[in-house]
Amino acid sequence: MKMQAKMRAAMMYGPSDIRIEQIDRPAVPEGGFVLKVHSIGLCGSDIRNLTTDSRKGDYPFIYGHEIVGTVNEVSDSCTEYKVGDRLYIYPADHCMKCEMCRTGHSEMCENVGDYTNRQGGFADYYAVSAEQVARDSIYRVPENVTLDRASLAEPLSSVYACQENIGVGFGDTLVIIGAGPIGCFHSKLAKLRGAKTVIMIEINDSRLEMAKQFGVDYTINSMKEDPIEAVRRLTNGKGADKVISANPSTQAQQQAIFMAKKTGIVVFFGGVAKGALTELDTNYIHYNGLWIYGHFGANSMQVQKAFELAISDEFEADRFMTHVLPLSQINEGIQLTRTGEAIKVVLHPNEDEDIDR
Ligand SMILES: [Zn+2]
Ligand SMILES: [Zn+2]
Repeated sequence: MKMQAKMRAAMMYGPSDIRIEQIDRPAVPEGGFVLKVHSIGLCGSDIRNLTTDSRKGDYPFIYGHEIVGTVNEVSDSCTEYKVGDRLYIYPADHCMKCEMCRTGHSEMCENVGDYTNRQGGFADYYAVSAEQVARDSIYRVPENVTLDRASLAEPLSSVYACQENIGVGFGDTLVIIGAGPIGCFHSKLAKLRGAKTVIMIEINDSRLEMAKQFGVDYTINSMKEDPIEAVRRLTNGKGADKVISANPSTQAQQQAIFMAKKTGIVVFFGGVAKGALTELDTNYIHYNGLWIYGHFGANSMQVQKAFELAISDEFEADRFMTHVLPLSQINEGIQLTRTGEAIKVVLHPNEDEDIDR
């Protein structure tokens, strides 16, 4: 028996208690493989999970779901992949057999893999199970594309799906509330889809400033001016075609209603704190014929399309990655994202190695 090899991982022990530790490398799952993680995005949901009691005392735990790397060790019974293959792993694997999957809504798969309880990718290595191999969650990264770039595919997937579902297109005026990485993705994508005007609302000036490079036409700091009035003024009193609330604030959701034009669409894209309720003026929604849409996730086809977009030159993924840090600086990454200094933080496990990213 050879000694169990070690690896470094960012272990969560409790809210905001994240320690870099040496732990056992995952064993190769029967029928699966072990991925060496090269690049992994730090997601808003990761930050929420890492800084709250997200696992109700069940620690230590490794988060991280925007995973890109190379195959390091393969089970004999896994014939599809070989050592060195460059892969992006979408966290949720769908069965493609249940009613939701068969009706084009695999994002609501009834037999989705237990991805919230799998050890994640904030580590040097990540185990990919036979079930993941058999399903729809593994994508090959072309040779001419950096692995860093591919790490943006996962966060882009739900943005892509949302805009496809609500038909953001030529001539649209779009309001985005929240200029985090997701808001910036929304703006960039809306412009690629032909939107005419993007209005970005946010409470942090440095985020607003950075968002301008992604196609934002007007910025509004909602701490300094009434965002509803500002949107009305910028749209000749009419309101926007589509309003996307991409932030965790119930107040923003409440206000979003009044920013949409008659028969416009309002999307609740970002989750709010568990159990929090938003007070809505339903008479206003009713008499103005508004469409309210709760968006979550992406179906398998949209995950594929978003991946293709993320690695395409036109998306300019590199511009979103303001900070690329070694995994051991994950706590700094969290701070940089929270203050609005960073747009997207990408982490590099295996930080002492000079490997292709
Ligand atoms: Zn399914
Ligand atoms: Zn994510």
